[in-house]
Amino acid sequence: MGGTSPMNCPECDCQIPIPNDAIQGELVSCKDCGTSYELVREPGSNLFSMRAAELEQEDWGE
Ligand SMILES: [Zn+2]
Repeated sequence: MGGTSPMNCPECDCQIPIPNDAIQGELVSCKDCGTSYELVREPGSNLFSMRAAELEQEDWGE
């Protein structure tokens, strides 16, 4: 039951809501500064941490 709490954006310190059904690798983005983060589940717990999403370089070859 309800364990997910918002996390603070490392860039601007505003809150980023984490979905209750968040999964490993899910992308969330900060509404304030627009930075995208990837959710990483902490081993052995239900908590997630965030790391900056590695946005792929624009691939103009398509
Ligand atoms: Zn932010």
